[in-house]
Amino acid sequence: MPCKVALDGPSGTPAKGGNRRGRQIDGLGIASAFVHMIPATNQDVGTTPMPYQYDDTNIFARILRGEIPNRTVLETDHTLAFHDIRPHAPAHVLVIPKGRYVTFDHFAAEASATELVDFHRTAAQVCALLGVTPGAGGAGYRTIANSGPDSNQEVPHYHLHILGGRNLGPLLA
Ligand code: 5GP
Repeated sequence: MPCKVALDGPSGTPAKGGNRRGRQIDGLGIASAFVHMIPATNQDVGTTPMPYQYDDTNIFARILRGEIPNRTVLETDHTLAFHDIRPHAPAHVLVIPKGRYVTFDHFAAEASATELVDFHRTAAQVCALLGVTPGAGGAGYRTIANSGPDSNQEVPHYHLHILGGRNLGPLLA
């Protein structure tokens, strides 16, 4: 089963053949043969979708519907990034998909390739806008995705925290 995620080109259109993308992944030490073994979605491998019940009343769903204001950093067709209302660092931005996903694993399993690529490229663009991208001279950042009770996830809509602007100390305080 070919992998839609790995083969998608930058604009969300499928790249021609697997070799180009495969070479990139080879650069990270992963054999290109494995690219074809990664399922794109649960549906592609015939497994049951995850039993997450999305709560349409959660605060991020209300932000997406425009019922609650937010300080938007970046918005695309599939993704919204906005400042956290209770920042834990000088820069603290939340990146959320516009689709109805509860956790990281839910998003990874059921989002389309276009949504997945858009989400991650938008998150990286946010880092660039915040000036924290190490490869561009920034001092670095941390991404966190709380999922489920042990993580103390407060809002049941998948979101990625991007934190930076100071040394963030150890991984878990
Ligand atoms: P979690 O604990 O679920 O990983 O993080 C939820 C985050 O959402 C918290 O950092 C919290 O400050 C933020 N948050 C909760 N309600 C709102 C809101 O109405 N607006 C914004 N911008 N952030 C919120």
